[in-house]
Amino acid sequence: MVNKFDVLIIGGGPGGLSIGSLLAREGVSSAIIEREPTLGGRYRAVRFHGCRSDNGVRMPTAMVRTPKETYMYKFLSSMGFPPEAKVVDWTMGKVSKDNPNRIEYFSMDPKKGVENFFDFFAFGSGLPMEKPSRQALMKAFRIMEDTSEEECRKLVNVTFASWIERNVEDPIAKAVLELAAPLMGAPATVVNYGAFANVMGTFPRVGALLFWYPRKGNMEDMVITPLANYYKDRGGKVLTNRRARSILIEKGRAKGVVVHNNKTRFIEEYSAPVVICAIPIFEAVARNILRPEFLTKDWAKAIELCAKLSYEDLTGFYLLREEVIPRKGPGWVHIFDSDYGLPTYVGDWCVGSLYNAVEPPGKQLIYSYIPGGLPDTPFGLTTPMDAVKEANRRWETAVEKVFPGFAKAIEFRGMTLQLNWGRYSWAAVPTELDMQSPNIRGLYFGGDTIRSVTSMVSDKIYQMVFPLFEMIMKYIRS
Ligand SMILES: Cc1cc2nc3c(=O)[nH]c(=O)nc-3n(C[C@H](O)[C@H](O)[C@H](O)COP(=O)(O)OP(=O)(O)OC[C@H]3O[C@@H](n4cnc5c(N)ncnc54)[C@H](O)[C@@H]3O)c2cc1C
Repeated sequence: MVNKFDVLIIGGGPGGLSIGSLLAREGVSSAIIEREPTLGGRYRAVRFHGCRSDNGVRMPTAMVRTPKETYMYKFLSSMGFPPEAKVVDWTMGKVSKDNPNRIEYFSMDPKKGVENFFDFFAFGSGLPMEKPSRQALMKAFRIMEDTSEEECRKLVNVTFASWIERNVEDPIAKAVLELAAPLMGAPATVVNYGAFANVMGTFPRVGALLFWYPRKGNMEDMVITPLANYYKDRGGKVLTNRRARSILIEKGRAKGVVVHNNKTRFIEEYSAPVVICAIPIFEAVARNILRPEFLTKDWAKAIELCAKLSYEDLTGFYLLREEVIPRKGPGWVHIFDSDYGLPTYVGDWCVGSLYNAVEPPGKQLIYSYIPGGLPDTPFGLTTPMDAVKEANRRWETAVEKVFPGFAKAIEFRGMTLQLNWGRYSWAAVPTELDMQSPNIRGLYFGGDTIRSVTSMVSDKIYQMVFPLFEMIMKYIRS
């Protein structure tokens, strides 16, 4: 096997595949090193009791941008396969500790604009939202709306908490903004103002949190399969079942990657003057693939912070013997458990057919998940199993109240644990970080790598892929 390439990419998730496809389009020889038997990362579909479904990642990207405004749409369109999206109606339900036998509902209406946001927090937190608080919040949103992306980038060293302290007086408005910070993945003392303003500043214009699914198939069908075919058709090499162990460095330059072949159990060496690390950066550091000396002190500190915020998510799948949940009605219901504060939740449900999961005839596939990741969220890998079971029981009881028969119809339930939302890798960062190693020439970062200012969740991958591509091309040409 040829072991020499121009570029080596560690990780075959959407991050690795998107940069790989751009390089392949330009005729650059590259290989993707992926430890699993298949590509896709956290966009991989799972097979569940005869169904095929997304695992965890359900709405492609930005919650506060319309589908066509997302970087994902722009990137995939430029590759020749624009995603077909459908925006899904959704509702939030609340089960509170004080009143565990009742479920209350709230839905966003895009026509109501930013008022939705205020009502949403009044609903979730139980805090009254009188006119002065609304006005104070409106003022804060206007400032965010007027802060350009460039300005946001300059404000990444300002914590959201200190910004609130300086700019908002009304105590309720303050509390709401503090409660909103975890929407970005971490508390207000950790999230920076730039990141928050860049995302939430668009909320007044879009008018509601939007959730959307691929119109046909799931994330794997919409993003991974076409990108993988594109990459391979243009000469990209896919090396699956290979776990990157370390990056080879010589005289301050990237030289290649040492790989463990999971099948032969042999160590292999691949060489290239450019290496792109496209796995979650805190994982890369924890596993010693990236060493602290490849980073500045700031970077190393930021990554340490990310690692502390990294939790696991619990994903649940239910197969129902009968169609208990009507096909009409909200596509996605999100159930808060106010024991744990906003916006942590016990779970949500989503009917599989909505995002074209393959469902056995006459049966329903219900998908739910309990997110970990918020600092005070008790769900995660280290959560005692009893607590997980209790949370699921509360979730199932709440669904049963709305759709009697649900509990009886469950034919099969399954659960998986996933590495948390990649967004922590950027939301928590106290400083501006980039896509290139400051110390090692030819070493770059893609995918869920740290970036301080960007849009929601995985949309950042597609936002950064073009500048990353240009940076690498310049380096190769020089
Ligand atoms: C439960 C859940 C829900 C989410 N919901 C959404 C959502 O609704 N919308 C959204 O936009 N985003 C969502 N995300 C985030 C999204 O999944 C990530 O932002 C995205 O997958 C990051 O892509 P990536 O390519 O950087 O990393 P990944 O998708 O993690 O891909 C990394 C790849 O690298 C491989 N790898 C890891 N270590 C090594 C190694 N040592 N050697 C070789 N290969 C390695 C992995 O197997 C994997 O294939 C969600 C994530 C989770 C967990």
